[in-house]
Order: sequence, then structure tokens, then C-alpha cells
Amino acid sequence: MAILFVGTRPAETVVPPGLRVGVLALQGDFREHAQVLRKLGANVDLVRRPEELDHIDGLVIPGGESSVMDKLARTFGLAEPLKAAIRAGLPVYGTCAGLIMLADTILDGMNGQQGFGGLDIAVRRNAFGSQTASFETDLDIPALGAEPVHAVFIRAPVVETVGAGATALAILDDGRCVAVEQGNLLGTSFHPEITGEYRFHQYFLQKLVAAAR
Ligand code: GLN
Repeated sequence: MAILFVGTRPAETVVPPGLRVGVLALQGDFREHAQVLRKLGANVDLVRRPEELDHIDGLVIPGGESSVMDKLARTFGLAEPLKAAIRAGLPVYGTCAGLIMLADTILDGMNGQQGFGGLDIAVRRNAFGSQTASFETDLDIPALGAEPVHAVFIRAPVVETVGAGATALAILDDGRCVAVEQGNLLGTSFHPEITGEYRFHQYFLQKLVAAAR
């Protein structure tokens, strides 16, 4: 995966100095998320162990491979405490594999694959086909302002069912949903962290700041 920052200027920082944003660092492109969050003025903690959940005010789950993330989270004893933290209202933003981890229902999962849940959605893994089916497009996302979001999809999932508790934020031209939110939870099928698009992280930080009040 090519990692390119094209240099969009971050919006003004909204994060009070005491807040800490975790990035789940078991697997995947957690470094890119940490870089975006730091550019937005956040203190970032990489999270690999259950006790590290105690010190964070919100968590980003990166893109990568959800079945591997699931196995590692269970092996390291992170899965259950993280599920409990999500139920208790921890703000969490998941991109791609991270969105899959946040879905209450995973379609086309590996045998026995589990997620953390929290979003009242059904997500289908690899919904656009294999690696070669990766693509880029511009999305209108009114919640983030008038300027379209340039979105990169890499072996991406789609949100096949949006339950009553969740809200669709972005829809492809063919009608498929690729971004959702529900209370303190946010999820995108695509990867803002690799395109210099800061608005999703900014939007997430606003949820985090509001939840910490
Ligand atoms: N296909 C991957 C999965 O199932 C997600 C790909 C990504 O995060 N870029 O987890």
C-alpha cells in the first residue's frame, strides 16, 4: 500500500492537552492514524495490552486484516475489555478492517471470526472483490462540509444493512453505504489516514472531546 500524505492543512486543534487517543496497534496501518492524530494536536498512545485501555479517552482501529486483528485481540486478552469499554461509551473510530471490527454482524467472515461490535450494522468483508478491485472515488459527505472526500478503498467492506441505531454518512453512486456513525462510534470502509484527509479524524476528535466533558 502506498502511503502518501498530500498535505491538506489540518483544521484547528480541538483536543485539550489532557486527553489521550489510543490507536489499536496489533496489526495494520496504525502508524498512519497516529501521524494524522498527532498532526491534529492529539496525544497518541499505541494500544496492544488490556491495561492500556485504562488510560485512553477514545480509540482508533486501523485498516489491516480483521481476521488477524480478531485473533491477536483475543490472544492478548484485549477483546473482552474492549467490548466492555465500547458498551460503556468509549468513542471509537474504525477504518476498513476497523469498521469490520465494530460491526455487530460480519458477513463473509473467516471461520469463527468475531468482532468487538457496537455498530448496529451488517458489514460484508471484501465486498468489492480481491486486491485488484481496490479503487478511489470522491464522496459527498454533508456531515463533513461541502468539499467532497477523496476516498481510497482497499479490499474494502460495505455496510450492507444499517440498523435503526446507526446512521449512514456516505453512500456510493450505486447506493451502497460506506460510512456510518452511532453515538460515539464512527466507521468508514475507506482510509482517510492515507490521503491527507483529516476531516474524519477531526470529526472523531470532536466526539471524543464531547464524551470526555
Ligand atoms: N479485507 C480486510 C479485512 O477483511 C480489510 C482491508 C483493509 O483494512 N484495507 O479485514
